[in-house]
Amino acid sequence: MASKKPNTDDLIQRTKDLKLDQNAILSTQTDRFYPNRKEKINFARLEKGLLLFIYVYETAKSTLSSEIALWDHRVCFNMIKDGKCAKSSDQCHTEHQTTYRQSNLCPYWYINNSCKFDSKCKNTHHFEQVSKYHRFICTETEVDVYKLIRFIRNFAGHYIDSVISEKNDQQDLYKNIIVIMIHLVHVLSLKRANSIEHLNLFLEATTINQLVPEKDLLNELEKPYDIPEVFLELTMNFNTYWYRYDAKKQSLNFNRLSSEFLTFFNNIFREYYEGRLKSRGAKIAWN
Ligand SMILES: [Zn+2]
Ligand SMILES: [Zn+2]
Repeated sequence: MASKKPNTDDLIQRTKDLKLDQNAILSTQTDRFYPNRKEKINFARLEKGLLLFIYVYETAKSTLSSEIALWDHRVCFNMIKDGKCAKSSDQCHTEHQTTYRQSNLCPYWYINNSCKFDSKCKNTHHFEQVSKYHRFICTETEVDVYKLIRFIRNFAGHYIDSVISEKNDQQDLYKNIIVIMIHLVHVLSLKRANSIEHLNLFLEATTINQLVPEKDLLNELEKPYDIPEVFLELTMNFNTYWYRYDAKKQSLNFNRLSSEFLTFFNNIFREYYEGRLKSRGAKIAWN
């Protein structure tokens, strides 16, 4: 049977559909923050924020390293299970410094990230009662927020060898980094209600000016945001084509952080203001 020849109308419609599809793919969450999609972001737009996050991460690191080690699954399983390990800490490949204990933790889940028994496992596939042992990082949201700070700090050290496949991907990456920095500054810094002064203080005002107007921006910051999962990884090779605009995403609600966590970071932002910005005449952005 001869196949029916498509008529011109069909072809026009198909071409239209195709164009719509491409637009759908290229439209990402960063568009919610950039009213003008064609707005170009160059590296200078990121610089002030990157310097801030180097400081924030390096200041927070020593206090939070043993807590995040558990969530990264870098703590020795034996220490978690029994509080002791047959190997000495320099012989064991995993970290011994932890107070965390959980006797019913599944070793397959913890060590290999997969257990063939799934929900039928007699052991547990999540951490229990973390707040009994940890002071700051007790929930998945707090883990993800800390991982994002770590990511931005690492990116700051590697942006030069960061190879990005296409122009679209690089623009999307830069916009995503800025949007995530804005979320982080917004939740972690002290601030005045209904104001973006704190964003202009810690990031570049011209960078903030490229975004949607103040009211819409504050509104967007209340909603969850889809984070590219690659930003949450522990080790990353920036020399490969590591980022794509269509990378797998994970929704994160930045507004679910404990007061202990927030106070800890509020103080770091305050110190940064007092030590680095105040002397240059920058005005305080909170009461
Ligand atoms: Zn060990
Ligand atoms: Zn299991």
